[in-house]
Amino acid sequence: MNGILNCTIDELEKIFLNNGFSKYRAKQIFVWLYRFGSRTFDEMTNISKNMRDELTKMFYIYRPKVANVAHSRDGTIKFLFQLADLNTIETVFMPETKRNTICISTQVGCTVGCKFCNTGYNGFVRNLTTEEIISQFLAVKDYLHLWDTATERLSNIVYMGMGEPLFNYENVLKSMQNLMCDENEGISRRRITLSTSGIAPVIERLAKDLPCRLAISLHAPNDNIRSKIMPINNVYNIESILNACRTYSYYHKYLKITFEYLLLKDINDTDDCAHELIALLKNINAKVNLIQFNPWKGCSFTPSKKAQRFSAILQKAGLEAPIRARRGIDIMAACGQLQSHGREERI
Ligand code: SF4
Repeated sequence: MNGILNCTIDELEKIFLNNGFSKYRAKQIFVWLYRFGSRTFDEMTNISKNMRDELTKMFYIYRPKVANVAHSRDGTIKFLFQLADLNTIETVFMPETKRNTICISTQVGCTVGCKFCNTGYNGFVRNLTTEEIISQFLAVKDYLHLWDTATERLSNIVYMGMGEPLFNYENVLKSMQNLMCDENEGISRRRITLSTSGIAPVIERLAKDLPCRLAISLHAPNDNIRSKIMPINNVYNIESILNACRTYSYYHKYLKITFEYLLLKDINDTDDCAHELIALLKNINAKVNLIQFNPWKGCSFTPSKKAQRFSAILQKAGLEAPIRARRGIDIMAACGQLQSHGREERI
């Protein structure tokens, strides 16, 4: 049996045509899956009983098990989802005044191994499938009863959870196609942000395949510092990443690229670093998101106290440079704090 959430609408149309069903049924089913959150085919009342029975034999509708839910004082909610093979991933829901954002994972663990990140510290297990990525969005809506409430829509998606999305490109691409589908009302490419450690050749592919908002985990103004905190820089250095960003901007001038910059005391938070960063991002349609380091057990970095000063230097040079609000730090849901629990630590 296939997981229907693994199928794009084009793929489903082909399967239907090959099985004697009308192609237009695929769109109807997408409405049930993505707009109403159906978890069985029997709920799909505008589909004939005969077809519903056939669909039940051909497909299942995937949801992960909700293994744990942690509530932060600031309203952030962290979900621990258990997958069919008992691996676990974390997903974070962040309510705000005008929008609700979900931060989803794309891998169990991560191969990139950024020194400041708990996910990377815990190693890599495997890529998530398309349905495992999409179902984080659906399962959070299930849990919080967000299917009917027009005012409390889950309006923004950030691919910033566990894993490097561009190392799981095919599944991430398909998940974005489905989440951006017309039937999943309101989730446009401007409401989806993909964050990457800078896999330069794949950034260029993304520019052509399916543009969305792009965030680059830069975290340093030069290769010397960046290679020390992000070993991936030895493969894709800053110049190669910025060239890929220029290509991205060439195709999508209206999408400003966000450069994430985690401030680490005495590593990358000096005035000189700020000035170097300004020079680096000159001529790029860029914005800088300054992030405060969120400590976790086993990590020796210290949060910087210079965020305001750093931000002021960038802003004086005309760069938008907000300091990102810390969310969910008391439940280990903030940036860089997510982790999977190894299979030996099953729930
Ligand atoms: S910051 Fe992102 S890319 Fe780096 S180790 Fe963590 S999850 Fe992987």
